[in-house]
Amino acid sequence: MEYKRILLKLSGEALMGNQQYGIDSDRLEQYAQEIKRVHELGIEIAIVIGGGNIFRGVQAESAGMDRVQGDYMGMLATVINGMALQSALEKAGLYTRLMSGIKMEQVCEPFIRRRAVRHLEKGRIVIFGAGIGNPYFTTDSTASLRAIEIEADVVLKGTRVDGVYTADPEKNPEATRFSNISFQEVYQKGLQVMDMTAFTLCQENKLPIIVFDMNKSGNLVDLIKGQDVGTLIT
Ligand code: UDP
Repeated sequence: MEYKRILLKLSGEALMGNQQYGIDSDRLEQYAQEIKRVHELGIEIAIVIGGGNIFRGVQAESAGMDRVQGDYMGMLATVINGMALQSALEKAGLYTRLMSGIKMEQVCEPFIRRRAVRHLEKGRIVIFGAGIGNPYFTTDSTASLRAIEIEADVVLKGTRVDGVYTADPEKNPEATRFSNISFQEVYQKGLQVMDMTAFTLCQENKLPIIVFDMNKSGNLVDLIKGQDVGTLIT
């Protein structure tokens, strides 16, 4: 197995399943099962979850609210998702810890790097909630930063599409998927992988990213086993 410790990024939107808002319990359970299969291979798993299914900072702005206020609301949304995911993982029989970038002692632990690493070494699944705890960032940036901090081998970005394409596959049927691509090429071709902050953090720290379709059953475990799933960016 190529990877020993992974950081899995899940978007909040994915948790909606077929709903328009909130958390779909079937989707959550499906994710828990996929994650369990990877855990059974002896892989250490950290997870960053988004909040887009509940609240996004930019939403606040367009509603006439203060942007920073909105960003904090978005961060709190990721904690709600993290708690839901934690429950689903525990129901599947896994040991977990939720660590937050904003202190909320009654709900979860604060993020402390050494502690997070220790949890992983003990086989616990660690969920990072509340982003990095600062406004003007995204959960993609959180995924890159936390992955670097805990020395993960790779960032796995679970999305709705099965990789990086020459063009948007939902709009252009001619688009083809890259199996491998370099950071440089992604940048030069203006392809969309993550926001620039997140992308640059990975590039500068030589941390590979794999973009893949998390909703296809078995994809996550196949990818870990080294099959050609998604797009590897190095
Ligand atoms: N957010 C933030 N700082 C962070 C992470 C997230 O301010 O470090 C806020 C931001 O407003 C963002 C929201 O939390 O819009 C939800 O996260 P994101 O949009 O990344 O979720 P996703 O698109 O993955 O569901």
